[in-house]
Amino acid sequence: MLRKTQGSRRPWFLPEGRRLPDEVWAQRHRGLTLLLWAHVPALYAFALFRGFPPSVALEQVSMIAIPAAIALVPRLGRNARSAATSIGLVVGASVLVHLSGGAIEAHFQFFVILAFLTLYQAWLPFLLALLYVVGEHGIVGAIDPSAVYNNPADIAHPWKWAAIHGGFVLAASFANVLSWRLTEQEALHDGLTGLPNRASLLDALDKMPPSRPHRTSAVLFIDLDNFKDANDAFGHDVGDALLIALAHRLQRQLRTGDLLARLGGDEFAIVLNDVTGFDEAKAVAERLLGAFEEPVRVGEVTLGACASMGVALADESTSGADLLRNADLAMYEAKRDGGARVATYRPTLHTAAVRRTELEAELRIALAEEQFVLHYQPIVDLASNRIVGTEALIRWQHPTAGFLAPGEFITAAEQSGLIVPLGAWVIRTACRQTAAWQQAEPDSAPITVAVNLSPRQLLDRTLVATVAEALHDSGLDPSSLCLEITEGSVIKDFDATMPTLNALRTLGVSLALDDFGTGYSSLSYLKQLPVTSVKIDRSFVGDLEANASNGQIILAIIELAHALGMSVTAEGAETAQQLAALKAMRSDMAQGYLLGRPMPPTDLRAAMVESDGEGLDEPAPRVPGQATGQHDAPVASRDQD
Ligand code: C2E
Ligand code: MG
Ligand code: MG
Repeated sequence: MLRKTQGSRRPWFLPEGRRLPDEVWAQRHRGLTLLLWAHVPALYAFALFRGFPPSVALEQVSMIAIPAAIALVPRLGRNARSAATSIGLVVGASVLVHLSGGAIEAHFQFFVILAFLTLYQAWLPFLLALLYVVGEHGIVGAIDPSAVYNNPADIAHPWKWAAIHGGFVLAASFANVLSWRLTEQEALHDGLTGLPNRASLLDALDKMPPSRPHRTSAVLFIDLDNFKDANDAFGHDVGDALLIALAHRLQRQLRTGDLLARLGGDEFAIVLNDVTGFDEAKAVAERLLGAFEEPVRVGEVTLGACASMGVALADESTSGADLLRNADLAMYEAKRDGGARVATYRPTLHTAAVRRTELEAELRIALAEEQFVLHYQPIVDLASNRIVGTEALIRWQHPTAGFLAPGEFITAAEQSGLIVPLGAWVIRTACRQTAAWQQAEPDSAPITVAVNLSPRQLLDRTLVATVAEALHDSGLDPSSLCLEITEGSVIKDFDATMPTLNALRTLGVSLALDDFGTGYSSLSYLKQLPVTSVKIDRSFVGDLEANASNGQIILAIIELAHALGMSVTAEGAETAQQLAALKAMRSDMAQGYLLGRPMPPTDLRAAMVESDGEGLDEPAPRVPGQATGQHDAPVASRDQD
């Protein structure tokens, strides 16, 4: 797999001398220096064994101990330290030859040392050792042969033996250098496709010529959509074959001079050299996207592939790593927009990513420091005008940004996976609070609580256990807990979520379909889902007076839900007219600012007592801060998400 490196004048068998990562270098240096130090007692003992007096033995090993000590000084840097170890090791071989009286067998030690020294993957220690060996055998061997050889024939023909030595040393060096080159090559290529890997790509990016006016380079970041599904469904062999086939297809589309690399998994990147700007790079990306369209045959299976691509342009200020990251950010944008498309990088993508990372870190702290609180919004039964339940809505008391609504952090919690522990906290707290309310009013009908579940929570294996534990610990009856899900979160992974939903129903909790009417509103799904109620999205209710067709939609949803044996809650009732219309359309329950804003538990308790006493016959819009000053802000503020 040795290939000529484009544009380089280095012979193909020679390594580039790529710098080893610091930790790898340190590890190898430690090993080689240990080997060097091991020479000291070994050669001392050998000298005594060969009958040399201790003073001579000491003098000989001190020639090794000095460079061995230098190799230990971190301050000296990689070059000096590896050079010291290299010199120590070749001098050690010379000492061995000398102590053994120039025995030819002892000369083999030089070959061993040269092989070991290629472990540094650096020219300096290797060439120093080579120079030493050639010098010792060629020059000293010629001038004073008896110092180097003990065989009379060798001593008689020093030049011949110097040449034989030189030849073998060069042959051994060639073999070592070749294996060094192969190691380097392997570290720069992807084992599966044979394409250059990430390290190689970054290298190429850093060596890219600077942009000229109107000519620059671009990086395309490619990530396959749904590769995981193909891998899971047909196995890794098929997945691998798909990657290889796509790699070949991409390669065929490129011009010479462009570089295709596999970054790992289902990620590829392409460096387009010499483009005029975003338009040209995007056009290439779109052409490549087309190349994915044709199905791939792998054995018996025919697979369709598509990809998301991000494009970033090089400029003087971006390093190779930054350029790749920019293209990656753009690719994520393409994914977020549904995949199978090309997105271009703009600086706001970076600021948004930085903000997301910061927000995630803050969320982690907030979770540990319990900066979250739950507010409860009353849910009113329209027949009795009584509060029959609440919806628990999370709020974040941010130490500097103040009171934050879920719209500002739930997505980040979802993306980082933090929604799982956060959601578990919401479930536990809501259950405990509701159990306390029920205990305080043992004679009233038990109030229920609705808790929102995000898609990630529905896919979490521990969800059912979390809910069961929260019910058990709080003593809340399962029928008092309602979990709100959205159509989108179920449809995204229907097969994975259905068993969870069924298990939750088996626990005895009820399930509501939240924000109904905004998503797919698919009737066939609605029929299949084990939900007990439907919540009509507030956008229909809010527009009720102005838009007559919304009334028709609400009516249709209510009738449909009733026909399927489900109850209906209308969200977002803000005016008395809306409420009257909802009542006339036989919505079972309603929720909205008119009936009560989301509020802290103490205020909700007061509202409950009030509703229990006389019902909420003619509810007046509540004024923010009415009871404790902590009610959510009025309409048109952050409570509109
Ligand atoms: P949602 O489940 O649809 O909750 C109802 C949202 O509508 C709440 O916004 C509520 O304050 C607001 N709302 C209620 N009545 C009215 C009204 O009359 N007019 C207007 N304009 N708005 C009204 P909030 O609290 O900002 O929550 C927004 C969304 O965040 C929720 O929508 C829910 O999807 C999500 N969310 C809230 N708490 C949690 C939670 O603990 N976990 C998860 N996963 N999501 C949550
Ligand atoms: Mg909800
Ligand atoms: Mg809703």
